[in-house]
Amino acid sequence: MWQRFTERARQVVFHAQARAASVGTKQVEPEHLLIAMTDVPECMAAVILERLGLRLDAVREEVEGRITIKESYAAQDMTLSPAAQKAVNLAYEEAKRFKHDYIGAEHLLLGILREQTGIAPQALAHLGVTLEAVREQLQQMQHKGFTPEEVPKLQPGLESRMAEIAAMMDAEDDKRLEELRRQEELLSLDEAVKFLGTSKPTLYRLLGQDEIKGLKVGRQWRFRRADLIAYMERGPVAVAAAPKEDLDMELAFFDQQLSVEETDTSGDPEAKTIRLAHKIMQLAIGAKASDIHLEPNADDFLLRLRVDGVLQETRRLPSSTRESLTARFKTMAEMDINEKRLPQDGRIPVRHEDKDFDFRVAVIPSMYGEAITMRILARQDVLIGLDKLGLAPEDLRQIRDLMHQPNGIVVATGPTGSGRTTLLYSCLRETADAEKKTLTVEDPVEFALPYTTQTQVNKRGGLTFPTVLRAFLRQDPDILLVGEMRDGETAQIAVEASLTGHLVLFPLHTGDAPSALLRLLDMGIEPYPISATVKGIVATRLVRRVCDGCKQPVDLSGEPTLGYIARLAAEGGYEIPDGAVFVRGTGCEQCRGRGYRGRTGLYEVLTMTEALAEAVLRRAPVEELTKLAVAGGMRTLLADGIRKAVEGQTTIEEVMRVVTVSVG
Ligand SMILES: [Zn+2]
Repeated sequence: MWQRFTERARQVVFHAQARAASVGTKQVEPEHLLIAMTDVPECMAAVILERLGLRLDAVREEVEGRITIKESYAAQDMTLSPAAQKAVNLAYEEAKRFKHDYIGAEHLLLGILREQTGIAPQALAHLGVTLEAVREQLQQMQHKGFTPEEVPKLQPGLESRMAEIAAMMDAEDDKRLEELRRQEELLSLDEAVKFLGTSKPTLYRLLGQDEIKGLKVGRQWRFRRADLIAYMERGPVAVAAAPKEDLDMELAFFDQQLSVEETDTSGDPEAKTIRLAHKIMQLAIGAKASDIHLEPNADDFLLRLRVDGVLQETRRLPSSTRESLTARFKTMAEMDINEKRLPQDGRIPVRHEDKDFDFRVAVIPSMYGEAITMRILARQDVLIGLDKLGLAPEDLRQIRDLMHQPNGIVVATGPTGSGRTTLLYSCLRETADAEKKTLTVEDPVEFALPYTTQTQVNKRGGLTFPTVLRAFLRQDPDILLVGEMRDGETAQIAVEASLTGHLVLFPLHTGDAPSALLRLLDMGIEPYPISATVKGIVATRLVRRVCDGCKQPVDLSGEPTLGYIARLAAEGGYEIPDGAVFVRGTGCEQCRGRGYRGRTGLYEVLTMTEALAEAVLRRAPVEELTKLAVAGGMRTLLADGIRKAVEGQTTIEEVMRVVTVSVG
């Protein structure tokens, strides 16, 4: 009940009671309340009086000058005088009038002014304070809330009166609520949040900006369903629509890029924006882009596509299109379009020419508005067969052998975007069948695999990689895939699982295969279990393929670089044949002048040999591990790249660019 009166208002009443007692009356009169307001200078009423140009001591003097002092009382057993009671009731009315769900000193001041009889209104009138002037001040002032302070206990008489008023307010709220409910359907704040598909902070902000109409019933917000629907229908319109001419110009650009003749120039800006968003996605898919980047600048909205691992400037859209286009992508990704100040994530499933794509959308606020990044995942690419990854025949055979091991560990390693996920999925897709129990734990689950139980971790819910992995061991599995291997605990469980008769697959983030052995040691796994359980490690990289449309032979014979390349290849387990010819793309229509089209993989397949196992036991350095692995039949990433360059699939420059990039 007590929170109905602000801490300041309670302080004012307490001071008033002391004032009244000091001047010899047992009843708190409105004038005592007024003096008390000047005793509590932080209260809103005092601030209002000051804003009206009055000094608080002058106000006090004015009122005190009118009070006749009798013999003084002890401040006890005080009650409100009938006039003060009326002033408090009127204060309550004023609070309602301002749609405040509390009574503050400012409302008491208004109540005193409205009560009109007695000393206080007289003094205020003398000072030139009118009801309207106080109301106006209150209107102008932003309510910042009140700091809760320890307030002395009020006397029982006053306390019960204030409690009565609070109870009255509650009862009136209930009555009003009941009445409203009878009239129309009302939603609570939680229901409204759900209905709008937004968050509480956003709804509060929308209320603050008058974007949404809400009814404050006492302390509770209620929403008319009709108001919410009206807001949602208005929603997209609230986003600044781009001028038609700008949209037409952009649509024409994308039509030209997509080589389609679109004669349809009809439609409102909204329909055109939807088409534009669609065409941007279409262009990205057509260009085989892995990512779409939309970045707001001072003067434009830059569209870049990442194709074959390299960002390319595609279009500078006019800034006028930014807001509506961003809202469109956010709507498609089921994000809250009204939330523009926090990062958001979402996904857009797209079906294009019988293929399924998953656009992973991330929006972040930036200086000139929201920036959007979309990662494009093609289901077909992830679930591609092992034989289509560009693996050399002997590498393919080795990987298939690894996947048929009854137990042990198989690692795919490489930097992010090196194709290791695709490799792991392809392995599972080929191996998981009706005769094997296959389980995966991922974050997030990328794509559904046949004959596989896939579990997504939920860290907040306590479903972590280690907990899921432990639970998996009770599921009688044959093959386990751990989507992420970042900590020693998960690694330890993976090793234990492989020791107890399961085949465990996981990715690591190292530059090459031998380094993965050292990474496991770094993660706290003892040398012996590593040498005993790791069956194979495959390092991966993606390189751009030379464009078939403009591929030209390059003769390197006699050039000093050839000797260098030949030496690197030999060290990595590959001998360049005599008379080898390299290639280069000169640029053509098909590759848009870049000389490359599409990508293929480079692989380094390490299989555990006795010599390697022995080297792991004595924690040998990476150079030695590499030498032993090559001696055991491994071809390094560089050697595999050079071989693919000799085969005319890629260029020496591309192999050097991709492979020599070291990763931590
Ligand atoms: Zn070309």
